[in-house]
Amino acid sequence: MTSRTSNTPKTIQTPTGKQLRGFLSQIQVINSINAALSGTTDMEEIHRIILSALTSKVGLGFSRAFLFLCDPARKSLAGKYAVGPSTKQEAEACMQEQAQQYDLIDQLQHSLYPGTLEAVTPFRGNGTERLKSGRLWIELFERHPPNRALTHKIEQISFDMPSGTAQKRGLRSACHENRICLCEKSHARSLFPAELLNCLDAKFLILPLNTKKGLHGVVIVDRKFDRKTITKADVRYLEWFKTPFALAIENTELFTDLEFAYSELQQLDALKSNFLAVISHELRTPLTAIQGFIDLLMNGKAGRLSASQQDLLARVVRNATHLISMVNDLIEVAEIEAQGPSQRHLESVDPLDALMTTLPRLEQRRETKHVSIEPVLTQQIPRVLTEQKALERILYHLLDNAVKFSPNNSTVTVEFEPVEAKLNIHVRDQGIGIHSLHLKRIFDYFYQVDNKLTRSYEGLGLGLATTRVLLLATGGEITVKSTRESGSVFTITYPIVEKTG
Ligand code: ADP
Repeated sequence: MTSRTSNTPKTIQTPTGKQLRGFLSQIQVINSINAALSGTTDMEEIHRIILSALTSKVGLGFSRAFLFLCDPARKSLAGKYAVGPSTKQEAEACMQEQAQQYDLIDQLQHSLYPGTLEAVTPFRGNGTERLKSGRLWIELFERHPPNRALTHKIEQISFDMPSGTAQKRGLRSACHENRICLCEKSHARSLFPAELLNCLDAKFLILPLNTKKGLHGVVIVDRKFDRKTITKADVRYLEWFKTPFALAIENTELFTDLEFAYSELQQLDALKSNFLAVISHELRTPLTAIQGFIDLLMNGKAGRLSASQQDLLARVVRNATHLISMVNDLIEVAEIEAQGPSQRHLESVDPLDALMTTLPRLEQRRETKHVSIEPVLTQQIPRVLTEQKALERILYHLLDNAVKFSPNNSTVTVEFEPVEAKLNIHVRDQGIGIHSLHLKRIFDYFYQVDNKLTRSYEGLGLGLATTRVLLLATGGEITVKSTRESGSVFTITYPIVEKTG
């Protein structure tokens, strides 16, 4: 059998030393431009680096670069910068300056890396340290800033984005198909504004800057006043830069969006805190008045009450007290958020005393569900460093939840566990438990696992958020372990007060 494939071995040409040096220097240029682009998240700087890289002799070496930014609202491209000469004299001056550019790089290198002059420059060697390399390109650009006269001209130029006519093929492919296009002025007379074509050389390239958001802009480069003209090889070489340029712009767009979203969130957060503070103060005043009048009625100051009237009034008292407690939570949260956690005066507190003070407040809910709350006292409970009132409120919230989410006739325990210099207080229930997905979020304001209006458990979703901020302000920590349908354990931890004497 004869093989159908040709047996003639393909000769692979070994690149010459000169070619290899050429490849190497191209890779170095790409490397240093990439490093420069990833060293900043400032859009102006990104634009500067791109234009500097395109026109610098140690970069891509085009003679001029024109940046047009996209205005999506107007569907147009508007001139922003122009770099490079506008007359032959300027071009000659530019050539001389460019010739000095390697020296300039050495000087810049020296000023940016004092004492390391012997290190190879980022452009020619391995020094691609991000920020410094970024600064080098920007410095280069600053020493060869946009051509004022040329920039002034192109600032006046804006042209419509191609809308799909075959005529605008060059610009259309660039914008919509994200392709670098080689254009000839003689074929483009009807496609671009005359003022722009008057500035450009006979051949020019359109480089699109497309990001996920859409077209950011286009750069036009030419080789006016240069001995060489634009060729297809330029298109291939520039291809390597299209993606890094676009990525740098995209990252910066994302970064700016994130910054904007973050500052919006901060404003909303401040608004929410302010809203909470104002609303809750406004609510507390009439509520306190209501409580005062109920007390007068209860004490018979407005005449004797029948047994059923007293019973009804007792319910009003309980509800008013609950309402005041919720408003106090809101005020507490708003105040701690406004002042920060450093304002509290910490003292030596007996945790058992705090628990005993709290229990009567839970009596009604506990009794209705026949849930028993049992402190587990196996050893002497050490005193802790915190604030008594805060600990009482924290215990109230944890126990209130434990009872609320427990089945009827079950038991909630409170265990005290000293571990080295800390005391753990575990509040353990046999209730519905919490799915692990929700565990991190239950300490957020207004977060409830069941947040439907038809939910079976009452509450504002503030108890655990209040607990979290109170702990932060009074030197405690909280953790939670939970298994669905089996129960939850909330553990608060405080530093033990050292015994003196
Ligand atoms: P709420 O007023 O809704 O109780 P919290 O901030 O105290 O607000 O609790 C937030 C949510 O965390 C509750 O709505 C509930 O879904 C869940 N949760 C808190 N404690 C328990 C618990 N012991 N068992 C089950 N779920 C709990």
